[in-house]
Amino acid sequence: MFEKQLSHHIFKTVSEESGRLGYKTYVVGGYVRDIYLKRHSKDVDFVTVGSGIALASAVQKRLKGSHLSVFKNFGTAQIKTDEWEFEFVGARKESYDRSSRNPKVEDGSFEDDIHRRDFTINTLAISLTPENYGELIDIFGGLKDLHQGVIRTPLDPQITFSDDPLRMMRAARFATQLNFKIEDKTYQALIKESHRLAIISQERITDELNKIILAKQPSVGFKILFNTKLLHQFFPELVKLYGVEIREGKSHKDNFYHTLQVLDQTCEKTGDLWVRWAAILHDIAKPPTKRFVPGEGWTFHGHEDKGSRMVKPIFRRLKLPLGEDMRKVTNLVKLHLRPIALTKECITDSAVRRLIFDAGEDLEDLILLCKSDITTKNKAKEVRFLANLINVEQNIATVEERDRIRNWQPPIDGQEIMNLFGIGPSREIGEIKSALKEAILDGKITNKYDEALLFVLEKGKQLGLQKQ
Ligand code: ATP
Ligand code: MG
Repeated sequence: MFEKQLSHHIFKTVSEESGRLGYKTYVVGGYVRDIYLKRHSKDVDFVTVGSGIALASAVQKRLKGSHLSVFKNFGTAQIKTDEWEFEFVGARKESYDRSSRNPKVEDGSFEDDIHRRDFTINTLAISLTPENYGELIDIFGGLKDLHQGVIRTPLDPQITFSDDPLRMMRAARFATQLNFKIEDKTYQALIKESHRLAIISQERITDELNKIILAKQPSVGFKILFNTKLLHQFFPELVKLYGVEIREGKSHKDNFYHTLQVLDQTCEKTGDLWVRWAAILHDIAKPPTKRFVPGEGWTFHGHEDKGSRMVKPIFRRLKLPLGEDMRKVTNLVKLHLRPIALTKECITDSAVRRLIFDAGEDLEDLILLCKSDITTKNKAKEVRFLANLINVEQNIATVEERDRIRNWQPPIDGQEIMNLFGIGPSREIGEIKSALKEAILDGKITNKYDEALLFVLEKGKQLGLQKQ
């Protein structure tokens, strides 16, 4: 059994070194689960009834090109090779005290260790003991749940989740990644214990959330998080998108389900986590900008601007990185209506140039997001909207080819303007610089040095400046 999956020579080495140390050792958890799911994992967890550190040290000495890290405080050790990561830990027993977030951990038997695991599909183990080398040990019927696609806790789900509430995020994450159903009692416990998520650090919650977002169809996970009210614990802005209001017989779409559809459609086109985040946040300011205009209907004026300003506080709270990735998400949210606006008016080159300039390197992702933003159920409309966007893409390509506007800088920079008029940094210089940029983007003058120079001199004159 498992000949191919245990073909790495480390498994035999672990078995031999365990024998020498008088330990029994098992491969456990995700690696075993993934064998059955035909997912090729290169992370392996070993549990030994003995010292994980002693075993790892002995094994590493026999593994060429490997590196050992020891975490004394946790009693664990890791061996890394170019491709693989092997974790070693002694079998442990955990007991939880409701007043503390951290369990009391003590040495335990193999069975104790299996009992503390989160889901039956993660309790599978393979023995590396010579007498039954390669035998599957399935105490909780994990194999059956794997075949039936079920997420279920091995012990009472309410206690399991209350002990370590992060497991609730993991339930939603596995259900999404594997497209499994959460068993009913387990699901009911999610609802009952969702408030307990409050004791988990945001970093760990966000790690699981990002795994959901990186899955093939993240809406599966978001619906679980929403329906169990886990989402309410850490992402109230998204929850607020839910619901439809009707006045004077006019309604608007449910922006929560719309957003999830946009997210799934984005995921069909890109694996980029941050473009996916832009999809999640593109309409985030619809609730705070919502107005009813009598006789007309619902409007969400300015939701793209307000939404772009909401990105940073949300990223900060969710402990997402605040650098270049956030800048991109902010830009995509801010610009997400612009390509569509271009389809409505008679498109001028200057409007196209402006979009290319403002979107910069995010332009392709912006168009991708706009295509994903089409969620109408009316097929004829869908076809028309898409055709409009393809038309915009062609216009962009033509203008780009001709004007080379992307990553573009005006032909005269601030320093040169200062030299021309013999003054230092000032309001006037800023004004001339932006007037020059606008004039070129508007097509009032071309993107050439001579024309720019004349323009700058004229503008300076208007502001009372003298050429030196
Ligand atoms: P993946 O690595 O694909 O994200 P995994 O199941 O391997 O999934 P890990 O976080 O690597 O997840 O954990 C390894 C194993 O440790 C799990 O399979 C599970 O048996 C156990 N485990 C991890 N986190 C918990 C937890 N919070 N509560 C109980 N058991 C856990
Ligand atoms: Mg793992």
